[in-house]
Amino acid sequence: MIITIDGPAAAGKGTLCSYLSKHYKLAYFDTGMVYRAVGLDMVLQNLNLQDEEIAEKIAKSLTFEKMMMLSKHPDFRSDIGGSAASKVSALPKVRAALLKMQQDFALNPVFADGTPANGVIYDGRDTGTVVCPNADIKLFVTASSEVRAKRRFDEFIAKGINTTYDKVLEDMIARDKRDQERASAPLKPADDAIVFDTSDMTAQEEINKAIEIIEAKR
Ligand code: C5P
Repeated sequence: MIITIDGPAAAGKGTLCSYLSKHYKLAYFDTGMVYRAVGLDMVLQNLNLQDEEIAEKIAKSLTFEKMMMLSKHPDFRSDIGGSAASKVSALPKVRAALLKMQQDFALNPVFADGTPANGVIYDGRDTGTVVCPNADIKLFVTASSEVRAKRRFDEFIAKGINTTYDKVLEDMIARDKRDQERASAPLKPADDAIVFDTSDMTAQEEINKAIEIIEAKR
């Protein structure tokens, strides 16, 4: 079984995917990681994030192992990593270079400890539209910018990352705009995705709603 869960940053996809991957025994691919890895790699090497040729080269050389290594860097999940990811993800050659790696995961899905899984749950922006257009179930999870910024701000504070709510909101709005307006694979629900808004939902309510949708579809 392949499930795709797309939507803007901090809509609640991560928590939902982690839960569903355990519940349905599916491997979990957080596709934002591939863009964060390329973006952070370029930031660490002081490279121009707008240079598509260089960014493509970095993207083509990305391996799963390198991505996992970069994910341990303190800025991988910070707004520095998120903003760099958002910039490189707008470059069509970068998206093309990272597509196969994301699609190949479904051919031989494994859990984090290497044991084989029966399918995959993809978390991203274009996993239902581009990465896995033939997925069995597609969800598009969203929430208002203010609610998402508050969630992301609370996460940063809990991790000891020094920032302000206003800075997180400003960054969130800029990322949404880049994600929605880019020419290649813009953020939008697949025609056959089920869209739901989590602004007024607790994490548990969001999980219950997603399971209800999946069970109705299966
Ligand atoms: O989901 P996450 O915040 O980790 O994603 C980081 C950035 O990577 C997003 O802001 C988005 O620009 C980009 N991304 C993308 N396509 C995906 C996943 C993430 O363009 N499938």
